[in-house]
Amino acid sequence: MRIEILGCSGSVMKGFNTTSILVNSSLLIDAGSASSVLSEDSIVNIRNILITHSHIDHIKELPFIVDTLFCRKAKGVTIWGSEMTIDSLKRHIFNGLIWPEMDELNVEEGFLELAPIPQDGFIDGNIRVQAYPVDHIEGSVCYLITENNRSVLFSGDVGYDKGLFDLVHSFGDKLAALFVEVSFPDNMAGLARVSHHLTPELLAKGLDGIVSSSTKVIAYHIKPKYLDMVVSQLSPGIDHIKGGEVFEF
Ligand SMILES: [Zn+2]
Ligand SMILES: [Zn+2]
Repeated sequence: MRIEILGCSGSVMKGFNTTSILVNSSLLIDAGSASSVLSEDSIVNIRNILITHSHIDHIKELPFIVDTLFCRKAKGVTIWGSEMTIDSLKRHIFNGLIWPEMDELNVEEGFLELAPIPQDGFIDGNIRVQAYPVDHIEGSVCYLITENNRSVLFSGDVGYDKGLFDLVHSFGDKLAALFVEVSFPDNMAGLARVSHHLTPELLAKGLDGIVSSSTKVIAYHIKPKYLDMVVSQLSPGIDHIKGGEVFEF
């Protein structure tokens, strides 16, 4: 599985892009920065776009990705999310006011679908995608991507969620990597709690004794302003990303 980090920051600042992760060239997790980072020819390969939740840092470039795919006459593009997220995208973004309502355009049949992700996920070529609810805003999910019996879990935004940690525990050695959000430094735990985000200390507590030693744990969605502080507080063995990295699992 090839994972390219297009953006992974918890906010936009010069040199920092919000969350967008490209898997095997055709599957995109969140749409925070793909269109300003990828070439047009790379965007055209995207067929499945997984949205973790409707916060703007995860969807802000979705209209422009759709625009490029539309202009290049792509077929079979699906935007996936929880029922709540798909409903929010239709009501608040693709509504004819913020961006065109797709049904109103004379788009060729088979171009684009906005679809709630089925409970047992879906299969795209060699890849299996499954979504699990997480504690952030209503409708938030994390995504498990599996290829050749190796899985990678992307937490999306999440607070201290026992459900997520139990999930990590249940996958054991099969989990090659966990990309997990850590938005704020430890001294901002109060804000992290009310906004349903994690700090290094909360993550360490949640993962204590439950994550396999063969699972690579990578922190993302760090607020750029607090990057140095958050990184200095991460437990030994937990890496972080800033964007631009490529992983093979
Ligand atoms: Zn969020
Ligand atoms: Zn976010």
